[in-house]
Amino acid sequence: MSDPLIPSVNIGVVGHVDHGKTTLVSALTGLWTDRHSEEIKRGISIRLGYADVTFYQCPSCEGPEAFSTSNKCECGENGEPVRTISFVDAPGHETLMATMLSGSALMDGAMLVIAANERCPQPQTKEHLMALELVGIKNIVIVQNKIDVVSQADAMENYQQIREFVKGTIAENAPVIPVSAQKKINFGALVQALNEYIPEPDRDPDDEPLLLIARSFDINKPGCSWREVKGGVIGGSLTQGLLHDGDELEIRPGLKVQVENQTIWEPIQTKVTTINAGSKRVPEATPGGLLGVGTKLDPALTKSDALSGQVAGHIGHLPPVWNKLAFNVKLMERVVGSDDEFTIDPLRHKEPLMLSVGTAVTVGVVVNTKKDVVEVVLKRPVCAAVGSQIAISRQVGGRWRLIGMGTLV
Ligand code: GDP
Ligand code: MG
Repeated sequence: MSDPLIPSVNIGVVGHVDHGKTTLVSALTGLWTDRHSEEIKRGISIRLGYADVTFYQCPSCEGPEAFSTSNKCECGENGEPVRTISFVDAPGHETLMATMLSGSALMDGAMLVIAANERCPQPQTKEHLMALELVGIKNIVIVQNKIDVVSQADAMENYQQIREFVKGTIAENAPVIPVSAQKKINFGALVQALNEYIPEPDRDPDDEPLLLIARSFDINKPGCSWREVKGGVIGGSLTQGLLHDGDELEIRPGLKVQVENQTIWEPIQTKVTTINAGSKRVPEATPGGLLGVGTKLDPALTKSDALSGQVAGHIGHLPPVWNKLAFNVKLMERVVGSDDEFTIDPLRHKEPLMLSVGTAVTVGVVVNTKKDVVEVVLKRPVCAAVGSQIAISRQVGGRWRLIGMGTLV
């Protein structure tokens, strides 16, 4: 059993734009995930946002009342920490599907937020559920939000629409929890459901660590003296294994360099200097939760998410780097997520595709469409293990739209 105060599970927050994902994460965690000014300006979560919260259970209360995100129960008694989870707040805007999918590689489960005051399903409600299904995320809790602005009868009707919508999908048996994110109504039941339906997956501590990098930062203030300069920080999640303070680290594909008119990618090597899990400094990192890993890297290498999409692990133990990906393909029948739906034609020779692998998003051109295996030459190489899942998007009506899933062979 891991430390209940250190994040052990990532829960993706998905659903249609404006259905209240960011408000809900903020109300549950006390953090606002739309941290970047450009995001606040546009009012949508452009980059994946993370926020941690500890669930508490009161020893004296029963049922939903016992669960809370506060260590003080409403009955006055102190709650026991049950576990800490990390929310990954994905954007709902349809053009940002790739960002959502790249986050899904890090998700152990998902909270699908559906506003009770709109007909269900809205376009991205459908598209995101389809994505969860394609990626195989089956631990899902459905949140029926904004119940403060609908009558009980309308809430019931909306509930029936939700049940009808998820019938026959991966979310068929998911609980539907009515809440108001804004008025913080029914959070006990939501915490109880998240706790029960999104358990910590079984993990093997002997696996080699694999850190999917979702963010990278330069944490130095502009103009600080070179004596005080702190090394580059990478943010991401371990999908397997353990990482320790002081570990020698390799990052792949690494750094793009020009050698005699040729572009090559050189792996980067560095050392772990600090690990933060949630808001805690820890000597050892485990899968689940977002980690901030301090390194000895030149912060110029890590600023502005420069390393996002790359993979870190022990030197010599990372998966291969691919310039060309070969994968089995499973295409959907129709593109969803817009008001019009399109049927999906087979992949064509020379067509451009956008591929999401782990946290990497890359564009490539189809060079081979054999029976079940497709080959795509990439603009930017990716580091990924055989068997990794690849989300495939195609340009439809001027936008990248999710059309299927592949498995790297
Ligand atoms: P997101 O796009 O899914 O992240 O949605 P936001 O969290 O940005 O919320 C969109 C709008 O819905 C904002 O104006 C929120 O204040 C509002 N909102 C969110 N949750 C609720 C709720 O429970 N009740 C009401 N009445 N409004 C809400
Ligand atoms: Mg949002």
